[in-house]
Amino acid sequence: MQTLRLTNNDSAQAAEILRAGGLVGIPTETVYGLGANGLNPEAVRAIFKAKGRPQDNPLILHIPEASWLERYCENVPPQAWALAQRFWPGPLTMILPRKALVPDEVTAGLETVGMRCPSHPLCQEIIRLADIPVAAPSGNTSGRPSPTTAQHMLEDMDGKIDAIVDGGPCSVGVESTIIDLTGDVPRLLRPGGITLEQLRQVLGQVEVDPAVTRLMGAGEKPKAPGMKYRHYAPKAPVTVVTGDPAKAAEYIAQHADAEDGIICFEEFLPLFTGRSVTRPVMDLGPSGDKEEQARHIFDALRSFDHTSVPAIWAQCPDSGGIGLAIANRLNKAAGFHIIQV
Ligand code: AMP
Ligand code: MG
Repeated sequence: MQTLRLTNNDSAQAAEILRAGGLVGIPTETVYGLGANGLNPEAVRAIFKAKGRPQDNPLILHIPEASWLERYCENVPPQAWALAQRFWPGPLTMILPRKALVPDEVTAGLETVGMRCPSHPLCQEIIRLADIPVAAPSGNTSGRPSPTTAQHMLEDMDGKIDAIVDGGPCSVGVESTIIDLTGDVPRLLRPGGITLEQLRQVLGQVEVDPAVTRLMGAGEKPKAPGMKYRHYAPKAPVTVVTGDPAKAAEYIAQHADAEDGIICFEEFLPLFTGRSVTRPVMDLGPSGDKEEQARHIFDALRSFDHTSVPAIWAQCPDSGGIGLAIANRLNKAAGFHIIQV
């Protein structure tokens, strides 16, 4: 299949392909998504095939405004409306009880469905023109780092999807926050662009699912099926070093081999570059600017797959604000191989 390259002038064509049951790479504020008509089971099955995604890992339905929630969800609680009012359109996904018209292919057979209203103007326009809920996971091959540019997505999906719309680099850079509103207490399933602190301002109590901060044991059943899979992993093994940024950088400088790849905060770049080393070094952004780090994290992880580095060492921010999402992605990429200095 030839993958059409579309731009911001082609939203009507992208919408038409979606309506006809095709697969379209769509820019969002978080990462690029692999979109299909969320009411068409066959189109949704094609997403799983293109990504090599396990069948039991459900997708998120993308809608243009909160009023669409009641079309696809049963018993929408007041908390959902409060969150939508505050954070939509934006990088927040809510897990709610589904209505029967949502295909099993979207929810992987669950009685709940993930709902999100993205803020990227081009994405909004495409969904409105298509006039359907768009089912979309991140546009990477299953297990790989999520794509934050059209080029990243083409690395994985060229020839496997009908079209991709280039909307420039993603402004948030990590996937949406996922909050489960179907239990007694709201539960954070995946940290993302909307922070835990922001959620607590609206909801009061929010539990953090154990899978956010640690590796799930073999016998444990995760709440979100996707949590049990290895994620975001480049080809070389990753070691995360957390703690005081200067100490962590020093630790890496002492322990990394000359050929190992490095992901470090901007101010420590000089520690890792020099005439005698051949390694690639990726700049995560200044240690004090987590928003910038979020925009760089997936590009940094992906970049090493174009090299032959035997191992990767990564600095990591503390877990305040969007740091929780960055740390979660890095720790998952590392299989929770973390060194605390
Ligand atoms: P992706 O956008 O590729 O990161 O995939 C969507 C994420 O949403 C996966 O981690 C899914 O497990 C999660 N998800 C989607 N629907 C549900 C649901 N009904 N319950 C729990 N998690 C969900
Ligand atoms: Mg994904």
